[in-house]
Amino acid sequence: MWFIMRNEQFKCIFCHSQVLPHPDWSARNHCPKCLYSKHLDKNFPWDRLSTCESLMKPVWIDYKKNKDYMIKHRCLKCGKEILNKVASDDDFLDFVKKLNKSL
Ligand SMILES: [Zn+2]
Ligand SMILES: [Zn+2]
Repeated sequence: MWFIMRNEQFKCIFCHSQVLPHPDWSARNHCPKCLYSKHLDKNFPWDRLSTCESLMKPVWIDYKKNKDYMIKHRCLKCGKEILNKVASDDDFLDFVKKLNKSL
């Protein structure tokens, strides 16, 4: 398995905020403000093999033992679901509050 960890600056395609590189110098693949992501990976995080490139909506949170909280993203076009690690500067609590409201 081959993948490249990237830490790059990008503009969010959903809320249009300028996203800075990850504060812990880890891979950033979603917007810390709205938590939306983009469908770039096909089989593994950071393989960048997907040709879909649609918006991925944060739909759920998941807690893995010995790991961190994960955000579950679902692609709005093809329905693919990918789990992503929460970054330390994500507006994670806001997202949890929104989830609670929608229940
Ligand atoms: Zn955003
Ligand atoms: Zn997709």
